[in-house]
Amino acid sequence: MNESRKLFVKSFGCQMNVYDSRRMADTLAPQGYVETPAADDADLVILNTCHIREKAAEKVYSELGRVRRLKEAAAAEGRRIVIAVAGCVAQAEGEEIIRRAPTVDLVFGPQSYHRLPQLLAGAERGDKPVDTEFPLDDKFDHLAAPSTAAVRARGVSAFVTVQEGCDKFCTFCVVPYTRGAEVSRPVDKILAEVAQLASAGVREITLLGQNVNAYHGDGLNGRPSSLAQLLEHVSAIDGVERLRYTTSHPRDMDGHLIAAHGALPKLMPQLHLPVQSGSDRVLAAMKRRHTCADYLAIVSRLRAARPDLALTSDFIVGFPGETEADFAQTLSLVGEVGFSGAFSFKYSPRPGTPGADLPDQVDEETKSERLHRLQTAIDQSQAEFNRSCLGRTFEVLFEKPGRYTSQLVGRSPYLQPVQVTAPAAMIGEIAAVTITEVASNSLFGTLARAPAREPSLAGAGA
Ligand code: SF4
Repeated sequence: MNESRKLFVKSFGCQMNVYDSRRMADTLAPQGYVETPAADDADLVILNTCHIREKAAEKVYSELGRVRRLKEAAAAEGRRIVIAVAGCVAQAEGEEIIRRAPTVDLVFGPQSYHRLPQLLAGAERGDKPVDTEFPLDDKFDHLAAPSTAAVRARGVSAFVTVQEGCDKFCTFCVVPYTRGAEVSRPVDKILAEVAQLASAGVREITLLGQNVNAYHGDGLNGRPSSLAQLLEHVSAIDGVERLRYTTSHPRDMDGHLIAAHGALPKLMPQLHLPVQSGSDRVLAAMKRRHTCADYLAIVSRLRAARPDLALTSDFIVGFPGETEADFAQTLSLVGEVGFSGAFSFKYSPRPGTPGADLPDQVDEETKSERLHRLQTAIDQSQAEFNRSCLGRTFEVLFEKPGRYTSQLVGRSPYLQPVQVTAPAAMIGEIAAVTITEVASNSLFGTLARAPAREPSLAGAGA
């Protein structure tokens, strides 16, 4: 009954979607589905969509045009491809997707993944189910765990979603509407998942959440646990050598979490902490609930706890009402913090968000020009940080083969890709590497003779 069928999942957007896609594949594995890298070979194609970027829905419809052609070609050969749309665009558009793209058999939002087998059965009967509810039951309780073979195939670094949704309602963002209110998973469930990943060979865990440092899941003592407490528990699990978490809001960087950066050796010295703008006026209009000074104070406390901490961030330029003086403050913040990298985007109004209705929308030409200047400043900051790594020795987790024979690619503690000549048997190992060359955004290094357990602080700092 469970004959082998092929599943192709395409993930758009953030790491949380990558994690969700994997859990969908795990949930469908007992039905006989195995993943294929080729959509034209699949029996089931799932597009796991993202609503963050501009024209997200239009991009999904154009992708559906391509998938429709595959479906028609398969039908000509007497084969059926079931097409499903999942994720945040599915949540936002709902039935509209099937109306505009009748080739789609199934639409489901981020809170319905655990019902995938039943929804799929409906789609196979031709019911065209649409499920965009925010159910009361916890989907994570019903998602199947991955097999050991699936974990191994996915590599030595793994994501684990610990929190979903957001209560902040920044005026530019759709997340609170597409992912709903903040929900945190209980500590025991997370620890069980991490232990299973570690026993299958995973060495690095990244805890994920739309607003991960607002984590407040039930602790082992029945009381709400903070993210700092959760990190402590995860770091005590045998086999887990490295820990990270993303994405955080400055308002939720409490003293315990800041202290954890100094106290937990497994917590890697890299943090993604979005600031969005360096202007208090713009931050207030975005309803970010922090000022530029608040952000700088948090950075300073973090660096007091962990002096070599590398910081990355997110920026939006051209938010309604942003003046040249506001933008200059953003540039000044970039210079002051010395980011090791950042994502930056032009503001584009999202229907249904308060920002879309604000007066003084900034024209496209100004936005493009400011984005160019900001990205130049970020690139310089990143290059400076990478250059500061030259000659240093730190630990690298080897993840996969490199482009050339005998080369492996790993990650530094600061999340930079590092290319090293090393035997394939070292994939999954953590070894000390001396950085010998920096080119573009990649580091090149050689295996150091004496392995060091901790990243060296010598020469640290951007
Ligand atoms: S905190 Fe992040 S996810 Fe929440 S509304 Fe603001 S930008 Fe969106």
